[in-house]
Amino acid sequence: MTWGMKLLICNDDGIYSPGLAALAKVARRFGDVRIVAPDVEQSSMGHAITASRPLTYRRTPIGSFDAYRVNGTPADCVALGAHQWDQVDVVLSGINLGTNLGNSMWHSGTLAAAKQAALLGMRGIALSTPVTDTEPDFEALAPWVDRVLELLLPDTTLHLVNVNIPPSAKGMRWTRQSVRHYDGQVVPGADPMGRQHFWLTVRPIETLDEGTDRWALQRGYVTLTPLRLDLTNEAELAAAMKRHRE
Ligand code: MN
Repeated sequence: MTWGMKLLICNDDGIYSPGLAALAKVARRFGDVRIVAPDVEQSSMGHAITASRPLTYRRTPIGSFDAYRVNGTPADCVALGAHQWDQVDVVLSGINLGTNLGNSMWHSGTLAAAKQAALLGMRGIALSTPVTDTEPDFEALAPWVDRVLELLLPDTTLHLVNVNIPPSAKGMRWTRQSVRHYDGQVVPGADPMGRQHFWLTVRPIETLDEGTDRWALQRGYVTLTPLRLDLTNEAELAAAMKRHRE
């Protein structure tokens, strides 16, 4: 099969992240690869765009890849990358150092790059992997990244997919987003000078519903969650229209 796709690679960990290089290496088999990524880490920046100052990019060697670093957010990188490189087929974002499951999708810069692709009429795939005390073994993940891309890239009916890859995966699962509340705590502390500061924590307080991304990842599966841009709550819309009829 000839692939010959145009693949724009982005992330939110910054252009020098080992996860980005690992993704580009696998993606190269499927077509032309160009890297356009933030110059510094943009994790948890969500779908922010830079509208109050101009953006610039600089060419940056990442192995033998055509790569550019941008002084902006992941969404900026996709917008600028697609502007400078015609006819991008798919934006691949990652591989993020840390999972993007459930509620974290609201904050994720990794997913925002894929969403920006979908907003601009391209397709977007976000890829993440857990981090523990040690850096992920990207060599070991590569065959799974390859399998994921082989499955998702030819399927043009999928516009936006969120993927998480555990170490030593057992297989792949189609999953739902696990949406429950998280603890959302603000934990006060003090810096070495005695000044007060705060840490925000977002630990999930959900039980693991079968079929969700968090559930499947915990069981050692690669999670594939197709997403949509339309956030409308259809049930509440229908009920509200009935209740508040003119
Ligand atoms: Mn990140």
